[in-house]
Amino acid sequence: MTSASLDLDDCRHCRSCDLAKTRQEVVVSRGNPEARLMLIGEAPGAREDATGLPFVGRSGQALDRLLVEVGLSPDQDCYICNAVKCRPPGNRRPRRSELEACRQWLDHQLALIDPEVIVLAGATALEAVLGSKGRMTDLRGRWQRWEGRDVMPIFHPSYLLRNPSTADGAPVALTRLDLIAVRQRLCER
Ligand code: SF4
Repeated sequence: MTSASLDLDDCRHCRSCDLAKTRQEVVVSRGNPEARLMLIGEAPGAREDATGLPFVGRSGQALDRLLVEVGLSPDQDCYICNAVKCRPPGNRRPRRSELEACRQWLDHQLALIDPEVIVLAGATALEAVLGSKGRMTDLRGRWQRWEGRDVMPIFHPSYLLRNPSTADGAPVALTRLDLIAVRQRLCER
């Protein structure tokens, strides 16, 4: 979508918070701007900072594998971004002030993409969009409604890398079930 690219060009020059001082690249998005599904994570890591693309490191590869497994193409079926567009030093969690400063761009993306379904990967994304706090073990897999959209919280893929068991009931299997529910919801709508 050309208008999305043009409007978000301003984001690549943003200096609204201190993360601008240490970033290499502003990490805006990857995937399809016309997708019905928007996936929002926390913040860029080192590889994302170097490439300017979200979820391209080991976590992103784990996420892509799961998406493909459940029948969703990361390139065609998803628009993928983060709540914060610049890498926090040392991969620390984004501060509230940084989430608030960057919210303007997330809101811009939400308005431009206008997704039917949103996946929130991890507690920071959940807090950034819904304002909800809590344990992801309690919140994941439970549909939420936000501004007329269906919202599915899932574990952040970095958590899956730290908990790689593929046993039933383990985080990887639970996330696969959550993404199957997302795909089904998209088919129903
Ligand atoms: S993190 Fe967001 S608000 Fe801060 S400089 Fe980067 S784009 Fe701007």
